[in-house]
Amino acid sequence: MVSVPRFLCDAMLGSLARWLRLFGFDCLFSLEEDSVLVETAAREGRWLLTRDRELAARGPRTLLVRSETLEDQLVEVFGRLGIEAEPTLEGARCAACNGPLKDAARKEVAAGVPPFVARTAPRFRRCTLCGRVYWPGTHTARILERMRRVVDRTGSPVEAAR
Ligand SMILES: [Zn+2]
Repeated sequence: MVSVPRFLCDAMLGSLARWLRLFGFDCLFSLEEDSVLVETAAREGRWLLTRDRELAARGPRTLLVRSETLEDQLVEVFGRLGIEAEPTLEGARCAACNGPLKDAARKEVAAGVPPFVARTAPRFRRCTLCGRVYWPGTHTARILERMRRVVDRTGSPVEAAR
């Protein structure tokens, strides 16, 4: 089995970074200048994702993201790198900071979430870096639907014809 790819998104690709994290990929987001991005990606063995043609030409593991919209960008990255992403949030990382999530007990998080959520959410996970709490809610269905759409489209003829 090949190792799971890790990513570094440049300043233009903040949404893509958040969604790669939801898909479970370790993905940094950086506003640093180009030379720092190239150096960081090389040192940490990450794919550098960028919409900047010149930056994309500077390293062997860079990918010039041509698509304009988030869903197209996800389809493009998965398709071009041959990644079989799963439409699930089970392996998700923190969308805000890329930290790993860990199951948390209701009483541990109750003070930091809305009272209704504290009473009714079936489970909680908390970011081990920034402390942000995640729970399944109405927004989760929409996220999963979008993930499924991306996975369904990945490798489709439309994408292959690009
Ligand atoms: Zn976090």
